[in-house]
Amino acid sequence: MIAFELTPVQEELRARVRTVARDVIAPLARELDAAPTPDPRRMPEVLAAHGLTCLLVPEEFGGPGYDNVTAALVLEEIAAACAGAASIVAATMHAMAPLLIAGTNAQRAHYLPLLARGGVAGFALSEPRAGSDAGALATSARPTEGGYILEGQKSFVFNAGVAGFYTVFATSDPRKGKAGINAYLVPGDARGLEVSEVHDKLGLRTSTTGELLLDRVFVAADGLIGHPGTGYLLLTQTLDWGRAFFGAIGVGLARAALEAALAHARRREQFGRPIIKHQGVSFLLADMATRIDAARLLVWRACRLMDREEDFTAASSMAKLFASEAARYVCGNAVLILGREGYVRRNPVEKYYRDAKALEIVEGTSQIQRMIIASQL
Ligand SMILES: Cc1cc2nc3c(=O)[nH]c(=O)nc-3n(C[C@H](O)[C@H](O)[C@H](O)COP(=O)(O)OP(=O)(O)OC[C@H]3O[C@@H](n4cnc5c(N)ncnc54)[C@H](O)[C@@H]3O)c2cc1C
Repeated sequence: MIAFELTPVQEELRARVRTVARDVIAPLARELDAAPTPDPRRMPEVLAAHGLTCLLVPEEFGGPGYDNVTAALVLEEIAAACAGAASIVAATMHAMAPLLIAGTNAQRAHYLPLLARGGVAGFALSEPRAGSDAGALATSARPTEGGYILEGQKSFVFNAGVAGFYTVFATSDPRKGKAGINAYLVPGDARGLEVSEVHDKLGLRTSTTGELLLDRVFVAADGLIGHPGTGYLLLTQTLDWGRAFFGAIGVGLARAALEAALAHARRREQFGRPIIKHQGVSFLLADMATRIDAARLLVWRACRLMDREEDFTAASSMAKLFASEAARYVCGNAVLILGREGYVRRNPVEKYYRDAKALEIVEGTSQIQRMIIASQL
């Protein structure tokens, strides 16, 4: 059966998050986005105060234990106020996914309550020389007495410097290729761990992204997630699953841009009538609305497949690919419909446009999504 209805609990949650997003997150987002060096702690604090950093943390560890569809609904609402804020949450979900997939009970009992109490986490995979080719890691994990020594550099890590812990991917032996990769839990205050650079980004400025230097960071033996040699599998499982959530962020962002464009098109008059009465504008709005609905359906389908534990790899990539490209299309056209008003800093659509571009890169670029989808055909 195909059902598009939300449960009363989901409806109530969505309404609650929509209010928080509009009244609390959006104003803070405007302030942080305009700051030359935004304070990276402020948005996580607000998200934590409203219980929004731990969407998937199971109830037994103090979280709400939402299913994937419900988490996507929440992310859409946060992103409609600020895609950067939603990225903080999504990145935390990525960092915890390996724990949910392969963590021991002791690891979960130690780290998941941190998130339930409002902490955020970082997913540290990319490196200066490893981006799309995520298997080409150079960060090393050398066995030592009682654990491992991690050494290397991780790039563009969301929540760098504010994370309670990082899920760090490193290789025990580069000659083994993907089979040498493992995932390690590294506390945010680990000795030898340092944020060497905070990126001054085009968009998503309300979330912090930085370079992590690991200078002989000791990780105890119980910090290894899963069996040795399964890290590459863990990272692909996490990314396959997580892509749909960046799709949900694209849907929320695009929705906000459409709402702004619609309001403007109804208000602004040119050639003696509101510009929405000109077919060139109304058809654009029709295409924007259609792409948003299609993107949302792809996100919901992917999340439903995850909840049913069915194969979701292609569906998740399709959701991310389509929603991120829809977000760029919708936000770009929102700027066009607002004309000169959309091109100034004080107008929200200017931020939406900058934020949208990142969604086509983060979590695998559009080309990489097409490669994944093609491999599944
Ligand atoms: C805002 C932001 C937040 C991020 N957060 C995180 C994070 O929290 N953790 C983390 O680990 N990483 C994070 N990243 C990194 C992100 O995952 C990478 O930027 C992304 O995977 C692309 O890698 P790259 O930037 O090195 O580009 P490259 O891999 O160098 O690619 C450059 C270009 O070449 C194309 N290309 C590469 N290979 C192929 C191919 N085989 N076929 C066709 N085209 C190809 C790409 O699509 C792209 O257009 C973040 C990035 C951004 C922008």
